[in-house]
Formats: sequence, C-alpha cells, structure tokens
Amino acid sequence: MLDADLKTQLKAYLERVTQPIEITASLDDSDKSREMQGLLQDIVSLSDKITLIEHRGGDERTPSFSINRPGGEIALRFAGIPMGHEFTSLVLALLQVGGHPSKLAQDVIEQVRHLDGDYRFETYFSLSCQNCPDVVQALNLMAVLNPKIRHVAIDGALFQDEVDRRQVMSVPTVFLNGETFAQGRMGVEEILARLDTGAVEREARKIDAKPAFDVLVVGGGPAGAAAAIYAARKGIVTGVAAERFGGQVLDTMGIENFISVQETEGPKLAAQLEQHVRQYEVDVMNLQRAEQLIPGELIEVKLASGASLKSRTVILSTGARWRQMHVPGENEYRNKGVAYCPHCDGPLFKGKRVAVIGGGNSGVEAAIDLAGIVAHVTLIEFDSQLRADEVLQRKLRSLPNVKVIVSAQTTEVLGDGQRVTGLVYKDRPSGDAHTVPLEGIFVQIGLLPNTEWLKGVVELSPRGEIIVDDRARPRSPASSRPATARPYRTSRSSSRWVKDPRPR
Ligand SMILES: Cc1cc2nc3c(=O)[nH]c(=O)nc-3n(C[C@H](O)[C@H](O)[C@H](O)COP(=O)(O)OP(=O)(O)OC[C@H]3O[C@@H](n4cnc5c(N)ncnc54)[C@H](O)[C@@H]3O)c2cc1C
Repeated sequence: MLDADLKTQLKAYLERVTQPIEITASLDDSDKSREMQGLLQDIVSLSDKITLIEHRGGDERTPSFSINRPGGEIALRFAGIPMGHEFTSLVLALLQVGGHPSKLAQDVIEQVRHLDGDYRFETYFSLSCQNCPDVVQALNLMAVLNPKIRHVAIDGALFQDEVDRRQVMSVPTVFLNGETFAQGRMGVEEILARLDTGAVEREARKIDAKPAFDVLVVGGGPAGAAAAIYAARKGIVTGVAAERFGGQVLDTMGIENFISVQETEGPKLAAQLEQHVRQYEVDVMNLQRAEQLIPGELIEVKLASGASLKSRTVILSTGARWRQMHVPGENEYRNKGVAYCPHCDGPLFKGKRVAVIGGGNSGVEAAIDLAGIVAHVTLIEFDSQLRADEVLQRKLRSLPNVKVIVSAQTTEVLGDGQRVTGLVYKDRPSGDAHTVPLEGIFVQIGLLPNTEWLKGVVELSPRGEIIVDDRARPRSPASSRPATARPYRTSRSSSRWVKDPRPR
C-alpha cells in the first residue's frame, strides 16, 4: 500500500512514538477494506510500539479504524483511508496518541483539557480538500487531549449514502452531537471559540486592555506578515489583528512562483509566515475581525469582539475573498450545492451535474478538474468569449462532458428547499431565460477586496480597492489628506524613532 519512500519517512516519524498504540479496524470484504488493511499492516510493520486488531464489522462505519492507547480512553477514528491530503492527519494522530507532544500553545492545551461535557464530533472530508486536514487534525488532537471529546473523520466519497442523507455538500463539514456544528477550515482556537463563548469575551477584555501600538497591521496574509516583520525588526511596538492568519494562501496547495522556493503548499507557507512573525516581538491577535477604523492622533480599530485597539499607525492589508454572484438562491443554497472551492467539494458531486460560473483561468481550471469527477459540467461565462489562457481553453474543449455557454448571465439558483436543483441564466443577446437542471454550482468569478468596513473613512475605487498616494497612504474621502496619522520613520543619525518631520 505505502511505497518505499513513504515507508522510510513514516518509519522515521514513528521513532518519536513513546507509548504503545493500538489500532482497531472494522473491516469487511470490500476492496476499500482490503486497501485499508494493507495500509494498517504497513504501519504496524514500521513500529514495534503499534499493534493491529482486526474485526469483521463492529463499527457503524466499515471500513474504519480507531487509534488508541491499550486500555486508553481516546476516541479517535478514521472512516475511510486517510491518504492524499489526510495522510499528515494520520501521521499526526499516530504521533500524538503515541505520546509525542503537539506544538499547540500550552494555554490552549489547558483550555481543551478543561472542556467539560460530552462532545461527539463527526467531520466529513474529501481526500482532495485542502481545508480539511486542519479541521481533522484539530479535532483529533482535541480528542487526544480530552477523553470527553470524541472524533470520527469520515471520507465523504466513501460514505456517499451518509453524505446524501445528511445533506453534506461541502467539506469540511463538522457535526457535533448529531447537529451541524461548522463548515470550512478551522483550527483548535476557532473550535474552542465556538464551544466556549466565554473565551471570546475573555480574549476581548485582554485585547481591550492593551496599550497603544506604534504600528498595528490589520490583516495576516503574506502582506500583513511582511509588514509586521519589517516593523518589528526596526524595534517598533507592533501588533497584527487578523480574522484568519495566513490569508488566501491557506486555500491553495500548490504555490510554484514564490521565487527561491520551487514548490510549496499554502498551509505550509502560512505556518511559516506565522513562525517568522512570531520570531519577533509581534503581538499576533488571530481570529479578530476589524469592523471600524476611527482616524485620529491615535487611530482606533474596533473589532467584532467588541474590543478596541489603538495605534499611532495602522497598516491595512485585508486582502480579498471569493466574489459572490449575488443572485437569488445563492446564499440560501451555499454549502447545499453552491460551492466556491472545486478541489474541496468536487468529490462530493461525483457522478452529478454541475455548473462552473466564470470563464477565466480559475473557472476553466475548475471545469477541467471537475470534468474528471462529475457526470457533466456546464461552464457559464458572462462575456462573449472565455478569458482563460488558450492552453486551458484547448484542454477544456477536448473534454466530452463539458458544455460552454458564453454571453450568459446567471440570474437565479434554484432549489427544493434542501439543495440545489438547477440554475437560471439569461442569454444576454436575446434576453431569453434558460434553466439548467443540475446538483452543484461552483462560483469562480474572481475576488473582492475586504474593504467594506473602511467605506467613508478612506477613499475606495469603484471596485472597492483602497486608493493610496505615492507613499501607500490612503486618503480620507472628503479631502486629499492622508486618512491616517503621520507615519513614523527612523532618524538616520540616531537609533531613536521620531515622528516624520517632512512637510505634507
Ligand atoms: C486558491 C488560491 C490560489 C492561489 N495561488 C497562488 C499562487 O500559486 N501564487 C501566488 O503568487 N498567489 C496565489 N494566490 C494569490 C495569493 O494568495 C494572494 O495574492 C495573497 O494571499 C495576497 O496576500 P494579502 O496579504 O494581500 O491578502 P490575503 O491573503 O487576502 O490576506 C488578508 C488577511 O486579512 C484578513 N482580513 C480580512 N478582512 C479583515 C478584517 N476586516 N479584519 C481583520 N482581518 C481581516 C484575512 O483574514 C487575512 O488574514 C492564490 C490565491 C488563492 C485564493
């Protein structure tokens, strides 16, 4: 099952296991069971601390396997074969059950250990989903730390009936005690914030009490991380407030144009950005959404948690997010057939009919990828021609199960109250409305700047981008003067920081 390279790597990892591990598998005669059995036997052969117990059935989901300590109370199970993006989740689960410490901050570990109650989590993932491993790994770790937390990670493509019955149309989807808990990428801190609402208030109080920063960076993507590092290296008192540290790169597995790094994965890059930032004295405040900017000598940034931060200078680096179609039905059927991540959610539409909205590079790439999984793809483009690179268009046209419709404006998402059943588009030249019956819609129409919260405070372009001067300073909408307080800069003749003395 595992090739020689993977075995060598895994063997090296498993040397860190300090406590015995017991894997208990629920198997039957299916091919997938045999595949799982092969994987588990390979794992057992790599460490004398791991034993395998095989049962015929024995769990509500077969094939599946649990990882525990002999006689232990850890309730951690994989229903499906955790290869692809989930292989790391399997390795981490083995290490953590085997006594290897996690890198989670000690105060967060304590918070997990002190959670009281009964938490039965079920996570639906797909093997091609880039957002799923974070959630699977977070909940696995929580299950290792606290026996009151149980977690099963379920491959939606393998348990298709279950996915249909529970109407899971987007991964990762997490159920807690049988009820929908959350969808999308989450780490331990986000899960804790949802479980323990007191934690959000406690954090808000802590943030509120902080003294003013010299530089406050709002946004924790590559731009925010770079700004924070540059500021902190100059000795400036720097903070970063970010809704989701890492930003957009968290949503991609393949980055090949980061010069000097031939190839990396988004979540890996995001983790490295965070490590780099934390090497300096930067106060990183993750999971904090800014909602209001109040200019002044000390600029105030109000957060969604109710807390406020003050700073002499604010750097705005809030990046962008997927653009929505804003048509009736889109929000109602989000995650019930309307999706934005083809890699993540594509496998849930195996054998079904889907549409991709948008004929740029992302839309055409999505259509090509989906065509290999689903029964049929309809690509809908507003313009009279596709805008994707020619090489992609050629590939798209070579696929037998793709139909391209141009000059078409999607006007409505149709559904039966539970899930998407089709879409309506207007043929722009004739104005005629057409209905396409389908089960999934992947929206790929570009990105939107995260600047709504700055409206009226700084000047924005009609597309919502911040208009800046030649020193990257935004302007207030009413005047041509910079909206922020004067920035600081170093005096060349001394190491002190002085206010920028240049006339404006
Ligand atoms: C699927 C995908 C694949 C990509 N692949 C590549 C690639 O291969 N190569 C490449 O060069 N680029 C790629 N990109 C583009 C690249 O990720 C972006 O150019 C880059 O992330 C932009 O960095 P940023 O810091 O400006 O903004 P972002 O990454 O968007 O980060 C914005 C930050 O601001 C935070 N934020 C937003 N609003 C608020 C608020 N109100 N309060 C607090 N925080 C807020 C966000 O949570 C986030 O931390 C890809 C993007 C995507 C989505």
